[in-house]
Amino acid sequence: MRDTLMSTVLTPEDAGYEAATRLWNGRIRRRPAMVVTPVDAAGVAAAVAFAREQGLAVSVRGGGHNIGGTALADGGLAIDMSAFRDVTVDPGARTATVGAGCRLADVDRATQEHGLATPLGFVSRVGVAGLTLGGGLGVLTRRFGWTVDNLLAAEVVTADGAVRRIGRDAEPDLFWALRGAGANLGVVTSFTYRLHPVGPEVYGGLIAWPFERAAEIMDGYRAITAAAPRELAVWLSLLTAPPAPFVPPEWQGRKLCAMAVCYTGDPRTADDAVAPLRALGKPVLDQLSRTQYTGIQSYLDDTEPEGMHYDWRSEFLAELSGDLLGTMRELFADCPAPMADIGLLHLGGALNERPADDGAVGNRDARYVVGVKGMWPPGETQETRFREWVAEGGDRIRPYGLGRTYINFQGPDESDARVRATYGANYPRLVEIKRRYDPANIFRSNRNIRP
Ligand SMILES: Cc1cc2nc3c(=O)[nH]c(=O)nc-3n(C[C@H](O)[C@H](O)[C@H](O)COP(=O)(O)OP(=O)(O)OC[C@H]3O[C@@H](n4cnc5c(N)ncnc54)[C@H](O)[C@@H]3O)c2cc1C
Repeated sequence: MRDTLMSTVLTPEDAGYEAATRLWNGRIRRRPAMVVTPVDAAGVAAAVAFAREQGLAVSVRGGGHNIGGTALADGGLAIDMSAFRDVTVDPGARTATVGAGCRLADVDRATQEHGLATPLGFVSRVGVAGLTLGGGLGVLTRRFGWTVDNLLAAEVVTADGAVRRIGRDAEPDLFWALRGAGANLGVVTSFTYRLHPVGPEVYGGLIAWPFERAAEIMDGYRAITAAAPRELAVWLSLLTAPPAPFVPPEWQGRKLCAMAVCYTGDPRTADDAVAPLRALGKPVLDQLSRTQYTGIQSYLDDTEPEGMHYDWRSEFLAELSGDLLGTMRELFADCPAPMADIGLLHLGGALNERPADDGAVGNRDARYVVGVKGMWPPGETQETRFREWVAEGGDRIRPYGLGRTYINFQGPDESDARVRATYGANYPRLVEIKRRYDPANIFRSNRNIRP
């Protein structure tokens, strides 16, 4: 491999191997037999062929932000896509073709130069590949659906080493499966997305109230999101205020009920759009203002830094019941971890409008996601206690959910049954496509579809 097609190869003896195998979730340490960094599709195909011959599992590293650390497989061949960072925007056709090693920031920055965007997540260091291949959601989801609803084409290297250019009319089965279960089917080298006029100026930021008022604020959230226009994305979080400069000193370290807001409609209507939030009264923090879309897509970057230890549980919801909101408050009141949060993402809108079998991603009935998240530094003495709290949180929110959760939020502790449940009625078709394109399951370092 070292002499093949300009790919860099690192094995455990090499300087650089340790850095190349560090992941966003510092809790997960995996040791692949080698990390290969190709520079083009031919290099990817050579790496896949080598892995197949040697009987090695292939894992692919996009942004390395998967909570379960699936970018690396112990003893496997890890393909690092960091050399694939080109973004080409065609403003006339409103499309962008994006290298699979890009971070979200690379794409938002390039498309915003033309006042365009495609729905991506809101932490700009996340990899565009992992996010897209699991579905993709963000502040534009209510307007334009899952990220994969905006995927027009992809170039992918499959297990047989073929480089395929696929779309709705070219290898439609493979493209269908890629739209939600993509990590199972090959190595994507580039994505082509549909773009929409967005920003560059939008309205949003953080607004927060004392946790003591959470019951009233969460009831307000339920009413506001039920009536919200699609241009308004409001995500709620029960959290302990960090010692950040934007938090008034007297509130740092205290529990808050906060909302992250983004309004991408006509700027002249922004005040009216967020008025119901302000009408909840007396926030301890109100940073809602005119801002740049790229700013909204990155201002929370430092809240979940690389290398900390993380544990997440989540559920898709059809509605917000009063009992769920009460359970969230009870859980958070008893939270032992200073850097944990319980949150709600508002989905719905365009995501709900397509048929359940429009792409493998499914879950077209999801209107919210509820998540329980723990974060602590390496070496934390109370790790066991914190993890128990996250696990208990997962158990307690589950009865209110749809019995499924976003594939990209599933951690290493989630079962295979959960993967099957999440793909639901789309699972049998996925198995059939997996058998056709990856019968030996060399792409198994993911939320795996068993062929
Ligand atoms: C802080 C944070 C914020 C997040 N916010 C959002 C959000 O707003 N919206 C959202 O939808 N999700 C969000 N996520 C979840 C995110 O989508 C997943 O963690 C996703 O897996 C990250 O992709 P990655 O490329 O960074 O990860 P990686 O760990 O590199 O890869 C994830 C999976 O995709 C596979 N993969 C990667 N690249 C390729 C490729 N080129 N071809 C084939 N398979 C590949 C890998 O094998 C692995 O199984 C967030 C995650 C974090 C940690």
